[in-house]
Amino acid sequence: MNRAAHLLWALAGLALVAGLASWLHRHASLGAGSSLELGKLYLQSAMSPLLVGTVSGALVLGLASVAVGALPNKPRAFVSRKPTLSPLAVVNEDVHTAAREMILELGRHLRVMARRPEPDIIAIMELLMEGAMRVVASDVHIHPLEEGTRIAFRVHGMLEQVIVFPREHHSRLVNRVKVLAKLPLYQLDKPQDGHFPLSSQDGPADIRVSILPTNHGEAVALRIARSGMKLPQLATLGFPEALLERYQQILALPQGLILVAGATGSGKTTSLYASLGHIQASRGQLTRIATIEDPIEFDVPLFAQTQVNSEQGFTFAQGLRAVLRQDPNVIMVGEIRDPETARTAIQAGLSGHLLLSTIHANSAAGAFNRLIEMGVEPFLLASSTAATLSQRLVRGLCPHCRTEQALTPEDAVRLDAAGIARGVFYGPVGCERCDGSGYLGRTAIYEMLPVTPAIRDAINAKVPSARIQEIAVREGMVPLLAAGVERARTGATTLREVFRVVGG
Ligand SMILES: [Zn+2]
Repeated sequence: MNRAAHLLWALAGLALVAGLASWLHRHASLGAGSSLELGKLYLQSAMSPLLVGTVSGALVLGLASVAVGALPNKPRAFVSRKPTLSPLAVVNEDVHTAAREMILELGRHLRVMARRPEPDIIAIMELLMEGAMRVVASDVHIHPLEEGTRIAFRVHGMLEQVIVFPREHHSRLVNRVKVLAKLPLYQLDKPQDGHFPLSSQDGPADIRVSILPTNHGEAVALRIARSGMKLPQLATLGFPEALLERYQQILALPQGLILVAGATGSGKTTSLYASLGHIQASRGQLTRIATIEDPIEFDVPLFAQTQVNSEQGFTFAQGLRAVLRQDPNVIMVGEIRDPETARTAIQAGLSGHLLLSTIHANSAAGAFNRLIEMGVEPFLLASSTAATLSQRLVRGLCPHCRTEQALTPEDAVRLDAAGIARGVFYGPVGCERCDGSGYLGRTAIYEMLPVTPAIRDAINAKVPSARIQEIAVREGMVPLLAAGVERARTGATTLREVFRVVGG
């Protein structure tokens, strides 16, 4: 309810009660029947009818507001017809941790909408596409089965079911897609292709539609091609200034490998996109940048992007070889996870290409042994790699409400054990801008290990990762834990977050 409506209610109540009071007053002073004794007493207690009116009016206003708020009134129901989805800071591989919850939430909304006697298919499709954009799905599948229509998203290569829709709405769902893609509604026995533009809160996209007749009805596959995506900026990811400067020098190298280590969901791909964006901006548009990805999650107009399709036998290694024949300057490979890709990547890094990729390893120092385990020759690895990075994501403290916090005894012990100085740290409070949580977004903690002559020797000697780590620290590498603590000192995150994701 808006303020004007409240005022109207108040005035109506006031007029009504004032009228009633003056009527009572008149009859009471005329000495009317005993049924009015109470009113008489009330009025005789030195209260003017106007005062009674005002007080009672306020009472009526309060009751009316409460009653109206509790009623399932029409405008409210109309608004909730299309629920808004909760915000989700998802970039690329962060998807898996947060996306499942988001998909569950979406499924709940859709089930409510589908249960209505006359479900609003237009609103349902809108919400579905909004959800797909939010969780950075690459595809939406609307698949007819015997028990119902299964709607699923492909998120980072994995199919995630959103909802099984009642069977009777299947053709209406398909027709909605056909209308959007301007395809003939009556054609049910032939495959159809088309596309339609989508504008969502998470940016614009082009939806490629493929419709295939099956024994249970038409199956729809929607492929999402995001466009106009703004690449993340290196400077906003969480690199301390000195480290950023050093990293940018490495990105300026004409050739070599840059590997980012970290678990799924640590924001590695975001770092790679930001790095490519920096290279593009600093070297100019003549620099040819090629990517091999699985899947391509963002269309970047200036990059040549190739999609790996392992189901059809088109692997990272094959993609990389094909891309190399196109002679790019800079190559991004989504992930090095097999010996063939590893060997091809090393060759690329030795033959005039700067190659960026991610690898599953716990630390920057651990990336080397991971590649040696894949069968890469240590001397090739040592001579081709420019640097390795490792990263973790932590929740960011809300800068609007964070406050200095005393060091807990356990944190003090942990800092002492790691040989890191105590000092002033911050904690969450909660305000309007962070929805009372005290946290806002996420930020990355980095460690970077540049391959120096000493490191090169260590790789050649196939020493354990712990030894490489020691040498790197001696040469100035700030390891993850210390890097995280430094970020906590600036108030970017809490000490607890750092210990949670880095350990120690
Ligand atoms: Zn806040």
